[in-house]
Amino acid sequence: MKAHDGMYIDGAWRPAAGRETIAVVNPADEQEIGAVPAGVEADVDAAVRAARAALPGWAATAPAERGERLAALRDRLVARTDEIAEVITAELGSTLGFSKRVQVGVPVAVTGSYAELAASYAFEEKVGNSTVLLEPVGVVGAITPWNYPLHQITNKVAPALAAGCTIVVKPAEDTPLTAQLFAECVAEAGIPAGVVNLVTGLGTVAGQALAEHPGVDLVSFTGSTAVGRKIGAIAGAAVKRVALELGGKSANVILPGADLPKAVAVNVADVVRNSGQSCNALTRMLVHRDQYEEAVALAAEEARAYVPGDPRDERSRLGPLVNAKQRDRVRGYIEKGVEEGARLVTGGADAPEGQPSGYYVSPTVFADVTPEMTIAQEEIFGPVVSILKYEDEDDALRIANGTDYGLAGAVWAADDATATAFARRLDAGQVDINGGRFNILAPFGGYKRSGVGRELGAHGLAEYLQTKSLQF
Ligand code: NAP
Ligand code: MG
Repeated sequence: MKAHDGMYIDGAWRPAAGRETIAVVNPADEQEIGAVPAGVEADVDAAVRAARAALPGWAATAPAERGERLAALRDRLVARTDEIAEVITAELGSTLGFSKRVQVGVPVAVTGSYAELAASYAFEEKVGNSTVLLEPVGVVGAITPWNYPLHQITNKVAPALAAGCTIVVKPAEDTPLTAQLFAECVAEAGIPAGVVNLVTGLGTVAGQALAEHPGVDLVSFTGSTAVGRKIGAIAGAAVKRVALELGGKSANVILPGADLPKAVAVNVADVVRNSGQSCNALTRMLVHRDQYEEAVALAAEEARAYVPGDPRDERSRLGPLVNAKQRDRVRGYIEKGVEEGARLVTGGADAPEGQPSGYYVSPTVFADVTPEMTIAQEEIFGPVVSILKYEDEDDALRIANGTDYGLAGAVWAADDATATAFARRLDAGQVDINGGRFNILAPFGGYKRSGVGRELGAHGLAEYLQTKSLQF
């Protein structure tokens, strides 16, 4: 694709207010593939004004008609799947098959789900002598990360539009081309001018201006806990609504009696997925001491099968990390794990063999990880799994719940009832039972420091609504 040199504001590509640009780099070969304008406060202000002007009309549009526009948007994403997937692979580095199936496939399904929900959702309810109206919150400021560049945008835009809100999106600086393609699809879908606006730029400039803008009623942020804290403080000071989708350090608890080889294989596949750059990745594997060495051997064998390779090659199963900073950060954590006494079973901090350029990291397995180690507490965001040993169920629960995070988890047992009983005691927003699959209608979000609010499905739609009670 050819990158736009402007911002998508009020239904057209407008010249950027400043002259600075951001280079987009392919992490597989470190070559520059394009550049987008670096938005400044004036761009954000123009976008918020456009969103505010479009709000009364969109909020008054019948929900079924809003649903029709979302269905048209889904159809445009379907029609351009290959092109979008290629751009995601080029700027993020996820393998091409994964880009098509997941990076585009999931946003297509999510957008479709909100097309249906807009039409079927009860925007009015009766409580005693009251009628409760569920009205759009207003103008949304969305700040998104690079790890699932389209998904993180549609996760916010689709429910916002279904609710009758208008929105300004500030995508991650590493993946702005995907965001521009998304804006093209918005235009092609006949979504009215000003309902969706895009400002590319740096988080510390454009992102901050968006969070601080008095014309924004709700800030929805996905990314690091460090930045999430700042966004929460800004929103709190201005008494604005805020939604925070932050990091995780999710536990995969394998109870005695589970299908161990399957539980380990699914766990390793989950951690190397998207080069380990998933907030809900099951980065801590908890195994009973009697099965511990068997699990370690199985995990090492599984991990070695994910040989890093060019993500454009359909045979590659593991691409690079998004940028040099993330690669160095992940390598730093691997070194820290070794320093603190964990046993490196496979992988490591060295550049993988046969990859002279690109931000690759080998799939890495650590054993003898204890709960207080840095690699057992902090989000690494790379293809690294830590295997921890537990004595009994209470010990496993204490370890699983023993981090600041609470985004996701998984439990494997001989039967669903045993796994479910354990899952009820986990401090986490999502738990997969015996390999349960991702569900785009299930609420997604964190307990504890993993965030505030929920995305996806009807719960995700409710985040964009405010209530008004009429008494009769
Ligand atoms: P990040 O800085 O939190 O980036 C997320 C988004 O926030 C980006 O659009 C970013 O813009 C923007 N941003 C940054 N500083 C901001 C500020 N002061 N005000 C407003 N917006 C701001 O995350 P990162 O640096 O890319 O990644 C660091 C770590 O965050 C990862 O290693 C991982 O642990 C975690 N992470 C979590 C998720 C998740 O899905 N929960 C996703 C990505 C990363 P820029 O693109 O210009 O920075
Ligand atoms: Mg950043």
